[in-house]
Amino acid sequence: MITHTKTKGLTAIKCTCVFQEFADAVFQMITEKFKELTDNLTSSHARHKVPAGIVMTRGLSMKEAQVVALSTGTKCINGEYISNQGLTLNDCHAEIVARRSFLRFLYSQLELHLSKQPDDWEQSIFAHQKEGGYKLKESILFHLYISTPPCGDARLNSHREARAELHHTRPLNRKVRGHLRTKIESGEGTIPIRSCHSIQTWDGVLQGEQLLTMSCTDKVNRWNILGAQGSLLSHFIEPIYLQSIVLGSTHHIGHLFRALCQRLEDVAQLPLPYRCNQPLLGGISSTGLRQQGKSPSFSVNWTVGDHDLEVINATTGKGDLGSSSRLCKRALYTQWAKLYGKAQH
Ligand SMILES: [Zn+2]
Repeated sequence: MITHTKTKGLTAIKCTCVFQEFADAVFQMITEKFKELTDNLTSSHARHKVPAGIVMTRGLSMKEAQVVALSTGTKCINGEYISNQGLTLNDCHAEIVARRSFLRFLYSQLELHLSKQPDDWEQSIFAHQKEGGYKLKESILFHLYISTPPCGDARLNSHREARAELHHTRPLNRKVRGHLRTKIESGEGTIPIRSCHSIQTWDGVLQGEQLLTMSCTDKVNRWNILGAQGSLLSHFIEPIYLQSIVLGSTHHIGHLFRALCQRLEDVAQLPLPYRCNQPLLGGISSTGLRQQGKSPSFSVNWTVGDHDLEVINATTGKGDLGSSSRLCKRALYTQWAKLYGKAQH
């Protein structure tokens, strides 16, 4: 894992292996849970290119660690299927789906807290705040596992930086790295945002304009400032930041740190309780869960408490029979409205 220290205004990156065991344990838990949910990888939905998941711990001990969200996926919706009713999943990249599954977990924990049973309050990860709202109980931490660096700056340039290091050529020019990038529709790469891009409009996309979606690197950066809980949950809870990001493959850890953790550190002072989060970053010591071949066009998701994986067609953003996902905007808003009603009484 990487930690950072500030010396004379410069940020020095210090690599330590202290957390190697921890990163390996997070990976192990995600792998075991995925096997359990796919009949030991025999189910047709076990096929994947990128798996991701979120593990919850109390402190940095694995004693009570629990996988709370799991996902796979590498694709985005085709623009013609976007829904103004919030019924589709637009971005099915694994880490994005893992975060949405994590939101379902947060809703269930808030429900538990608002339950009339004192035993349930005890079990909830949230505590009521005197000044109103809820916050995580002390020592509750969340760790994101992704089998590969997030698409965009982190993934693209870590390959380049690693190659430069290997061949002793010059590292990347500052002008090349750190760009905001967008995913391309019906494909797997990302492109830099250019000022000449016209503004994306709903009717434009429906008429065939390319749908642009933020790269995962840029979304992770957003979570580091605004928290991973999203704007709806911000109504009830303080921002929740990722404690660490564990990657199944790391090409150039220094670059990954810059792209995922350090890029926004100069953001002007944020109003409390927001802050600029810099998660710990680590790679696993094995090669991870790798599957060869083409990426499947479906994405799966699971939140602790679910019996089964949900399978979503990443091109249409819905289930194969046209059903909307339990992670779609409408479903999450329904949970929010229910909670809002309860929290008023
Ligand atoms: Zn991505």
